[in-house]
Amino acid sequence: MKILVINCGSSSLKYQLIDMTDESVLAKGLCERIGIEGSKLTHQPAGKDKFVVEKAMPDHKVAIGLVLEALQDPEHGVVKSTDEIAAVGHRVLHAGTKYCESIVVNDDVKKVIRECFDLGPLHNPANLMGIEACEAVMPGKANVAVWDTAFGMSMPEKAYLYAIPHEYYEKYSIRRYGFHGTSHMFVSGEAIKFGELDSENAKVIVCHLGNGASISASIGGKCVDTSMGLTPLEGLIMGTRSGDVDPAVCQFICNKEGIDINEMLNILNKKSGVLGMSGGVSSDFRDIEKAKEEGNHLADVALQAFVYRVAKYIGAYTAAMNGVDAIAFTAGVGENDKNTRKSVCDYLGYLGVKIDDEANNVRGERRVISAADSKVKVMLIPTNEELAIARETLRLTK
Ligand code: AMP
Repeated sequence: MKILVINCGSSSLKYQLIDMTDESVLAKGLCERIGIEGSKLTHQPAGKDKFVVEKAMPDHKVAIGLVLEALQDPEHGVVKSTDEIAAVGHRVLHAGTKYCESIVVNDDVKKVIRECFDLGPLHNPANLMGIEACEAVMPGKANVAVWDTAFGMSMPEKAYLYAIPHEYYEKYSIRRYGFHGTSHMFVSGEAIKFGELDSENAKVIVCHLGNGASISASIGGKCVDTSMGLTPLEGLIMGTRSGDVDPAVCQFICNKEGIDINEMLNILNKKSGVLGMSGGVSSDFRDIEKAKEEGNHLADVALQAFVYRVAKYIGAYTAAMNGVDAIAFTAGVGENDKNTRKSVCDYLGYLGVKIDDEANNVRGERRVISAADSKVKVMLIPTNEELAIARETLRLTK
C-alpha cells in the first residue's frame, strides 16, 4: 500500500511517496515558486538520480499534476499509475478546537480548515489548496488531514487556558494549541517503544529543537503541556522567534519606535530569537556556534539563553508530571548538535540525568545517549513527520 504525503506552503509543495509495507520512501520532492515566475520541481526517486522539471506552475493544481507525472515518469518514476496510490495524507496546520485527531477529508472538514484561516493565516489556505488540488487531479481518492494542533488538544484546561478574560476563549477560541504536534506525537511514541517504557504511563519530555523550537510533556503518549501557544511564537527561544516575552515589552517598543502591533509581531517572529539576540549574526545555529567560537560575546549569550530556556521548561514539565522517565531530543539542532544536548543535560543533574559522552557523540541516529545509571533515559530520536502522516493516513483508510 502506497501513501502520498503532501505538505503545502503558500508557494511550495513538499511530497513523499511511502510504501507502507516496509515504510520505505519510494520518492520525494519539492515544488518551488508556485504562482511565481521560475517554478521548479525537484524529484528524487530512491536510489536514482535527481530529476528537475522547470515548468510554469500557476497554482497548486498544476504542481500536483506535475508531481504525479514525475511519479509515473517511465525513467524517473516509481509507480506505473496513480491507482497504486492508496490515499493522500496532508499536513494541515490548524483545526481550532474542532478536531483532536486526524480525519478523512469531506466538506465539513474543509469548512473547518477555512474557518481556521485567521488562526493559521499563512498555512491553512495553502493546506486547503493542496487538498483541493488532489481532489481535482485524483477524484475519488481519500485525502486525510493530519493536524499540527491535534497533539496539543489533550492538554487539560489548566494548561491550555490563558489567564485573560474567559470571554475571549468563548468568542474567539483564544487558547494555547501547541504546534509541531505531528513531530511530538511521533517522537514521544517512538521514545516509548525504543526506550521500552510503559506505553500507558511513561512520562516523556520531547525537545524539538530546530529553527522553530518547542517542547512537550506527555504521559503515555498523550500531551499534558507544550510550549507553543495560540501561535508558534510562545515558548522556547528559536532561530528568529523570541519565545516567551512580557507583553508589555511590545507596548513599550511600539510607543518608543512609533510602530504598530503588527510590525511588533513581525519583529518578534522574524527578527528575534538567536538572530536578534546575537545582534544579527544569523538565525542558523551553526553560524551562531561559529561566531561564538570566534569570540562573539552576543552569539555566546544567545546560545546560553537558548539552552537555559530549554532546561527551565524541562524543570517545569517534570514538576507538571511529577517526574520524568525519558527526555528525547529531535529536529535539526536536537539531532545534530551534541554540545546543545550535553549543555541542556548539564542542568539536570538534580534529576539524576547522566549523559554518556561517547553515546552522545552521534548525529541523526536513534540512540540512548544517557549512561546506564542515569535515572532518566535520554534519547536522540530523529523526527519523521512524513512517516507519521503516512501512518495516520493508512490507519484511517485501510
Ligand atoms: P530544522 O528546523 O529542524 O530543519 O533545524 C534547522 C536548524 O538545525 C538550523 O538552525 C541548523 O543550523 C541546525 N543544525 C543543523 N545541523 C547542526 C549542527 N551540526 N550543529 C548545530 N546546529 C545544526
